[in-house]
Amino acid sequence: MNFDELNISDDIKKAIDEMGFEKLTPIQESAIPEALNGHDLIGQAQTGSGKTIAFAIPVLERIFIPDKSPQAIILCPTRELCMQVASEIEKTGSKIKKLKVLAVYGGQPIGKQTRVLKKGVHVVVGTPGRVIDHIERGNLDLIGIERVVLDEADEMLEMGFREDIETILARTPHQRQTLLFSATIPREIKQIAERYQKNPKFIKISDKRKNIPKITQYAFKCDIKDKFNGLTRLLEAYDVKLALVFCNTKKSVNFVSKHLKDDFKADSIHGDMTQQVRDKVMNKFRNGNINILVATDVAARGLDIDNVDVIVNYDVPQNIDDYIHRIGRTARAGKRGFAFTLVSKDEIVRFNNIRKANNVKIIEKEFPTLGEIDAIKTKKLLNDAKSLIRDGNLERYEKIVDDAEEDNSKLAAALLRMLVEN
Ligand code: AMP
Repeated sequence: MNFDELNISDDIKKAIDEMGFEKLTPIQESAIPEALNGHDLIGQAQTGSGKTIAFAIPVLERIFIPDKSPQAIILCPTRELCMQVASEIEKTGSKIKKLKVLAVYGGQPIGKQTRVLKKGVHVVVGTPGRVIDHIERGNLDLIGIERVVLDEADEMLEMGFREDIETILARTPHQRQTLLFSATIPREIKQIAERYQKNPKFIKISDKRKNIPKITQYAFKCDIKDKFNGLTRLLEAYDVKLALVFCNTKKSVNFVSKHLKDDFKADSIHGDMTQQVRDKVMNKFRNGNINILVATDVAARGLDIDNVDVIVNYDVPQNIDDYIHRIGRTARAGKRGFAFTLVSKDEIVRFNNIRKANNVKIIEKEFPTLGEIDAIKTKKLLNDAKSLIRDGNLERYEKIVDDAEEDNSKLAAALLRMLVEN
């Protein structure tokens, strides 16, 4: 459905057109007509679904500009969301003359907000705590409220805003319309809906993110000279089965693969190799003769390999598209995967741009310490030993241990140490 087909004012249509939107998102398609008809709604939808415009349009469509008192109030869990929602409503209402939207949240001097409120606003977007504050100071009168939106209601409850929300709802006129949006619908949300909504329509938009592969994304900030050492620690600590290490240049590929070969089963591919050589390397990778492949973006394009469990960006990729391409090589077919990005000082700006554009948070971490790596290796060896004990077939070695006439636990400890430290 296109925005053109909605029964709304030309001012809003014009603004939406300027924002560059043509088609409604699923939550907009379900929620807007229902809300315009006056129904209460429970919209189960995530950030990114377009839910803000799903409530911004019905809210703005019903604002009576000559009345300069608050007619709609939108409650959000955080200051950031308040600012974001207020800005989206302002954009959607940019063609409505004299429309006033105000965000009120903690952390900003209350005096400034008070002055704007006193001059008159049509739409208030606020965190529950600060809204209560304004009500108690007599800055905000809810008597003229016709529409209340609870945005990210589950988050607000988690943050302990339940009582504030109920206080606010109880102070608005009974005949108001209440639109509730929440990513999840726990029992407490149902209780609020039962108490404060009238026959709400329930709209559920399936979470597309479920289909997004499970990639754990970490960034490691370090000096450029510590990158290689950091890489080897990661490869050891994460018990890598198949890893792809991406570099930005052939020179970097050659350096990394040459040094990795000392301690790992690694090899490389880059654009200067003949197809024959590349095929040979790829075969080694596929059948497990090597388990770490160092590559440039171009060389890795079109490679069809599953089961890669770790991606390392030894160099920060040039842009978000390359980042997404690179990490998309892991977590295929519903499996889990890791993506590590090593970030040196002169790559921080580029990395921050990628981080902002990425739709999943990239968590900052420190390289594992040698102690942590030892602990991981020891645990793995012990687990392997335990499953060997369960499987049996140890008689020959038991005899050797008996013949050694040493304390058994000391002997085991010494063998373990030799294995871990080798
Ligand atoms: P939200 O779920 O409200 O946080 O919106 C996510 C993003 O989608 C925002 O950047 C919106 O500006 C954008 N957006 C909202 N509606 C549409 C639409 N119909 N078409 C394309 N983008 C949209």
